[in-house]
Amino acid sequence: MAERIYMSSPDVTEREESAIIAAIRSGWIAPLGPDVDSFEQELAARLGVAYGVALSSGTAALHLGLLTLGVKPGDVVVTSTMTFAATTNAIVYTGAEPFFVDADLATGNMDPVLLRQALTSLREAGEEVAAIIPVDLLGKAVDYTAITAIAEEFSVPLLADAAESLGASHAGRAAGSFGRASVVSFNGNKIMTTSGGGMLLTDDEDLARRVRYLATQARQPVAHYEHTDVGYNYRMSNLLAALGRAQLSRLDEMIARRREMRELYKELFASVDGVEVFGAEGDENDNVWLTSILVDEERTGWTPSDLSAALAADDIESRPLWKPMHKQPVFAHLRGVINGASERLFERGLTLPSGSALTASQRARVVDRIHDFLRER
Ligand SMILES: *Cc1c(COP(=O)(O)O)cnc(C)c1O
Repeated sequence: MAERIYMSSPDVTEREESAIIAAIRSGWIAPLGPDVDSFEQELAARLGVAYGVALSSGTAALHLGLLTLGVKPGDVVVTSTMTFAATTNAIVYTGAEPFFVDADLATGNMDPVLLRQALTSLREAGEEVAAIIPVDLLGKAVDYTAITAIAEEFSVPLLADAAESLGASHAGRAAGSFGRASVVSFNGNKIMTTSGGGMLLTDDEDLARRVRYLATQARQPVAHYEHTDVGYNYRMSNLLAALGRAQLSRLDEMIARRREMRELYKELFASVDGVEVFGAEGDENDNVWLTSILVDEERTGWTPSDLSAALAADDIESRPLWKPMHKQPVFAHLRGVINGASERLFERGLTLPSGSALTASQRARVVDRIHDFLRER
């Protein structure tokens, strides 16, 4: 049988290999070093932000972002229900209560109308909303123009979860540069990877300094390790930052390759009644991290799981969209403003192989299997 084709596997080359070897030979292993500083500066410069703090994961960046915004037990943090669990988990780590907002059907991103509704009802109930975390779903930036205006109107700080949208933009500004701070992820399946890692980006010098301090065990600057705060061990190692710098130098090339795959799918499904490529409209400013299709079973006569099973039979990976957080057993008891949009996307969606490391023959195999499936229907 042919080798397995993954949805989004790491795309590493000899450039990454040389960067890691050079970092090891430099002796900066324990664990911070010059590659961490350079990686922070290079990514912050690319995104047009003053400060970057490289961390062990995107989840760690969300956690420390919330703590430095002053989020504490008993607060409410308003967030997207259409996301990966890490966003909600980070809120729970702080002792605050996540409050979900449903999605805009066309993009899957937080619906500004529902956000306003959520903030209005929470304010009327006299509840303290400590932060808002919108999520740039699958590499399409949130409507930050609308969301930022609402956050300002209600005087609530915005922490942007840009874990999936590195390289995307909104209104000429880079994803990862919005809000009081933004968070990106370099997990293995993301658009670029450090094996595992993340970064918090901000223009606020004090906030960046505080995140750096909390991420390195909250050590006071004295020899005997004095502590006045509970700290975390959340910093990125120098070896992984070297990998990150090599990946960052290839980011545009990797986005271009994902876009080629997106265009292949658009062509493939253009004439299929009842199938649309999710978020394809206005995707020129997206990083097209993952390409998903939405299937209207009444028109196609087949379901996303039918196609998924056909692909799996040839060892090709595909997956549903994120299952909304308000439907997750662990979070189902939490409150939110829910209108069914994200559930509908979850029911209809299927994410297809989208990675930049896909070879020409792997791409052709995916396209052929989908053709076969469509012909048999
Ligand atoms: C991947 C992801 C995260 C978490 O990032 P890690 O680096 O894996 O901790 C957070 N939010 C979203 C939306 C993600 O997709």
